[in-house]
Amino acid sequence: MKSNKQRREEIMQLRLKRAARALEPHPRGEVVSPTMPHRRYVDKAFTCIDCGVQQVWTAKQQLWWYEIAKGNPYTAAVRCRPCRKLHAEQLKAMQSHPGANKLGEEVAWLKSLKSEPSDPAKINRLNAALDGRHDSVRKVAVDAIAQWQRPQDEPRLRALVDRPFRGYSNPLHEAAARALLPLLRHPHDEAWVLEQFAMNHNAARPFMEFARAMPDAALHRALMLEAENSDQRRLHNLCMMMEHIARPLPANVVYKLENSNERHLRAYSKRYKAEED
Ligand SMILES: [Zn+2]
Repeated sequence: MKSNKQRREEIMQLRLKRAARALEPHPRGEVVSPTMPHRRYVDKAFTCIDCGVQQVWTAKQQLWWYEIAKGNPYTAAVRCRPCRKLHAEQLKAMQSHPGANKLGEEVAWLKSLKSEPSDPAKINRLNAALDGRHDSVRKVAVDAIAQWQRPQDEPRLRALVDRPFRGYSNPLHEAAARALLPLLRHPHDEAWVLEQFAMNHNAARPFMEFARAMPDAALHRALMLEAENSDQRRLHNLCMMMEHIARPLPANVVYKLENSNERHLRAYSKRYKAEED
C-alpha cells in the first residue's frame, strides 16, 4: 500500500514529466492536431495491399484524413496513390452496372413501406428481408414492421433480441427491442425484461420505460434472487437499472453489496447509504 503522500508525490512527478514533454519541439514527421493538442500524428510506414510497394502515410495526410475529411477513425491508409485511384475507378464501374446495388434497392423499398403489405409477393419480399443474411437490411425491415405493432411479429422480435452479439451495442438488436416494446405486457413479460437487463444492461436500454412501470415487489424479488446467486456481474447490471429508474434497493440487497468482494458493488452500497442519510 502507498500512503496518500507518496501518491500525491507520484502524481506531481507525472505532471512535471507531461509539462516537460509538451515543451519539446516536434521532430520531423510529426504533427500536433490543431483541435486536440494531446493528439499527435506520426509518419507511418505501410505496404500497399495491391502492388506491395513500401509507402509512408505522412503525419499531414493523417491529419487531413481524420480531421478535415472526417474519415472513419478505425481506418488507415492501405493503398499507394496510383492503386487508390485505380481501385476507386473500378468501384465506380462496378456500381454503375445495373442490379449492382441490390441491397440499396431493398433498403429503399423497405423504407418506402408505409402500410402493411397485403399482396403475397410483397409479404414474401418483406419476410425475406427480415430473415436475410445482411443485418443492415434486416434492421430496416424491423423498423418497417415496428410501425404496425402486429402481435404476430412478437416471437420473431423476441428471437432477435435474444440473439447474442459482440460489442457494446448492435443496431439490429436495438431496432428489434424498440419494435418489441409496445407489444410487451405487465406483469406477463416482466421476468423476461429483467433477464435482459441482468444479461446486458446496456443492450436492454430500450426497455427502461417498461422497467420504470414495474412495481417495487417484482423488482425486489428479482434483485434478491440475484443477490443469492454468485454471478456478481448480473447483480451489478440490475443495480445499474435500478439507479437509472431511480428506485431504492431493498435493505438486504444493500447489505449483500456492502459485504461483496467486488469493488463496483461496494461502491453502489456506499452511494445508497449516502442518499439515505
Ligand atoms: Zn500500390
